[in-house]
Amino acid sequence: MAMAHRSLPSRGPNEVIKKNGETIVQTTSGSAGPESGIIRIASQNKGQATLTVGNTEIPCRIVRRSGAVRLTLQILPDNSLRLTAPPGISKQVIESFVESKAAFIQEKIAARAPARGIEYRDGGAILLFGREVTVNAGGTGEITLRGDLLCVPEGRQVKAAVAAYLREITRSEVERHLPHYAAAFGVKVPPIEIRSYKTSWGKCRTDGRIFFNERCAMLPADLIEYVVAHEVCHIHHPHHQRSFHDALRAVMPDADERKRRMRHYHPLWVTGEGSGTATKKA
Ligand SMILES: [Zn+2]
Repeated sequence: MAMAHRSLPSRGPNEVIKKNGETIVQTTSGSAGPESGIIRIASQNKGQATLTVGNTEIPCRIVRRSGAVRLTLQILPDNSLRLTAPPGISKQVIESFVESKAAFIQEKIAARAPARGIEYRDGGAILLFGREVTVNAGGTGEITLRGDLLCVPEGRQVKAAVAAYLREITRSEVERHLPHYAAAFGVKVPPIEIRSYKTSWGKCRTDGRIFFNERCAMLPADLIEYVVAHEVCHIHHPHHQRSFHDALRAVMPDADERKRRMRHYHPLWVTGEGSGTATKKA
């Protein structure tokens, strides 16, 4: 495997990418020695492992993906780890890679509070337009927002009711912006669908349909607008190359700034600007 890795584009062992509130480390080498500290990774069943650094136990999920060409370690907003590995890489190489990054991981995790997960249940937290609200299942009548409480009528399935509420907000925000951005990019108003995704806010299909994550309603209003512009821009530019960003900037001059702010949000976690989690630097 080392040979295969050397043929890849050169990346430093500690290259850090930040995306969707996740800190990502990629490497071309799985054989580096431990950096420091008392560390041990114990693999368990079904790709679950625990990295122990000093007294701290850090859950790590190991995912083997046929399309993966290198080992990628993500520090998720809840301070757990996800390691994506190509199928042929041995357990020993994976473990030695994670152990070699232990000091770096510990430093990143120590610098921030873990994000809590979004939960569609009574007492659970979600975001609405970037603001944290608590789901409360004791309401009457329609599902309504009262201050910081999202009141779901008694007797309704909380999960379904919250999902429907988020879908409705997302649909209305998306439909509000869609005609403007379709005109700006010189395309017909595309057909849309609202779906539930764990990691993406939207997807533009090659047939011109755009799928938006129902959780777009969790973003601040101007970032929902950013997602709309971003996906419509993909109709002519189905990639993230320079021409895509140039075209997006031409219709939304502060697109780069909004893209930067998007990094604070993640569909699965209660994070946000000023929350002190996610991408805050140590
Ligand atoms: Zn995109």
